[in-house]
Amino acid sequence: MTSPADKEIHKPSNFLRQIIEHDLAKGTYAGRRWGGSPGDAAHHAAGQPDPAKVRLRFPPEPNGYLHVGHAKSICLNFGLARDYAGVCHLRFDDTNPEKEDSEYVDAIKDAVQWLGFDWHNGAETNLYQASDYFDFMYRAAEYLIESGNAYVDEQSAEEMRIHRGDFVKPGVNSPFRSRTVAENIARFREMRDGKLADGAAVLRAKIDMASPNINMRDPAIYRIRRAHHHNTGDKWCIYPMYTYAHPIEDALEQITHSICTLEFEDQRPFYDWLLDKLAEGGLIASPHPRQYEFARLNLTYVLTSKRKLAQLVNEQRVSGWDDPRMPTIVGLRRRGYTPEAIHLFAERIGVTKSDSWIDYSTLEGALRDTLDPIAPRAMAVLDPVKLVLTNWDEVMGAGKLDDCSAPVHPHHPEQGKREFKIGKEVWIESTDYEETPPKGFFRLFPGNKVRLKYGHVIECTGATKDANGNVTEVLATLIPDTKSGTPGSDAVKVKGVITWVGVYDAVQAEVRLYDRLFSEAHPEADGKDFLENLNPASLSVVTAYVEPSLAKVEAGQRFQFERHGYFVTDLKDHAANKVVFNRVTGMKDSWAK
Ligand code: ATP
Ligand code: MG
Repeated sequence: MTSPADKEIHKPSNFLRQIIEHDLAKGTYAGRRWGGSPGDAAHHAAGQPDPAKVRLRFPPEPNGYLHVGHAKSICLNFGLARDYAGVCHLRFDDTNPEKEDSEYVDAIKDAVQWLGFDWHNGAETNLYQASDYFDFMYRAAEYLIESGNAYVDEQSAEEMRIHRGDFVKPGVNSPFRSRTVAENIARFREMRDGKLADGAAVLRAKIDMASPNINMRDPAIYRIRRAHHHNTGDKWCIYPMYTYAHPIEDALEQITHSICTLEFEDQRPFYDWLLDKLAEGGLIASPHPRQYEFARLNLTYVLTSKRKLAQLVNEQRVSGWDDPRMPTIVGLRRRGYTPEAIHLFAERIGVTKSDSWIDYSTLEGALRDTLDPIAPRAMAVLDPVKLVLTNWDEVMGAGKLDDCSAPVHPHHPEQGKREFKIGKEVWIESTDYEETPPKGFFRLFPGNKVRLKYGHVIECTGATKDANGNVTEVLATLIPDTKSGTPGSDAVKVKGVITWVGVYDAVQAEVRLYDRLFSEAHPEADGKDFLENLNPASLSVVTAYVEPSLAKVEAGQRFQFERHGYFVTDLKDHAANKVVFNRVTGMKDSWAK
């Protein structure tokens, strides 16, 4: 899926591409077999040489709607798989029983598909859920115990915390660390069988309490938690810890390159320790997956945390997960973002190994650059005031309407023309008239001439006002023989061109003018509550007039309203009898300093 703008961009090299290219050149994974589905070493050994050169995965936890940060990760993982003749699995990381919901599972699948990616590879579905691996995870835990690499610890949580030490102080061995294998197995089975209370014991990996990396100081790998799981029900009262589960999920799925965000960097030694042990024991196929970390996306004016986005929804600060101001994929989509714009954005920001902030204008820029070449043009008046052409009846004829036309797209004449009519009365933007013009104002003021775009040149003669001094109608005279596209039409020179919509054929529309949800680039800077930085002007709704070519458009259609920017018919509320547009973004960055 490439857009015209995309094609011009040379794919920037990133360190992950280099790693994959290096592995492909060296044949690191060339001998891998694939059993047709996830499984242990024996399962894959009985399979075929893996038809996929590389396997990646996108592993969301189904506890909320995906946001623009996840979009980066989706584009990265699925994009690398596509570019290197591999596959990318969609894996629901549902090992935590408390938080998951199947509503989110469907939304996540939709989001990945909308971005243009597919987890299928021929007959392989490659849609997995981590909880399907609980049996193997349990078996692997018993193997670790049997091989002297894990033990059941019954210290209190507080004792464990104290004994873990800190950055300067090494940890202290637990008194339970020297239990025999038989005792550990018996106790672990009691944990599994519900003989111990929640929190009474944990299974820990036996590594090194003095390791400089605190994550290697005998991390917990199983805990007791009586909780109903959406997939496994009440089968288990012990659940694997994320740091234990994740490497195993990757290994069973024969993932080659396991890409995660930087905060997992310190977990990498444990990832390798665990998979090395399980490979030694012949439980998982070799070579095992490797973890690589990249910097998460931080975007100014945006929150990228499912939990905080959920708070905005739950407290009704926005209308829902798909509110067009939300950075969720459903929100961006309703706002009018295209998959192509998000791909281009992901390409432009690239992949790095150090955290930084991406400016929001980069996202909007990618959107403009992808919409500009494809969006049909239209005229719309968002803040209408009536303009009356007082000499219309004499020069054009009473009640007469005159045909005007404009290209659907200025660079694509083959797309044809839009037709509309001009008459005695047209709608113009109220800001296009000034009684006493400021310096450099070239639009309507008494005595000035402007062109009605695609129409005639007119000369302003003044305005009528109500009792409060507000302009009710702007008045002008039409200058004959100046209609755009007719011979001699440019004999009268003007400095200003204004957009307009005919009163007789205009279509009334509700236009939702969306802007950034937060007024601060860093909504949480200096420990502030992000709610304090909500932009009070992030939405205003106006009744506008749009040209007649927009009378019958379907929901989700994008246009460039000349002068105003990009607009989309709302996916939820737009209907044949109620035209509703969302502003996607302005013509240029109005926030630039
Ligand atoms: P959140 O804090 O919003 O819940 P998460 O990282 O816990 O985010 P997961 O569902 O666990 O959400 O993430 C799925 C994948 O998306 C992970 O591989 C994670 O690295 C990636 N991801 C999440 N947030 C970002 C981000 N801001 N930038 C890049 N990748 C991200
Ligand atoms: Mg998470």
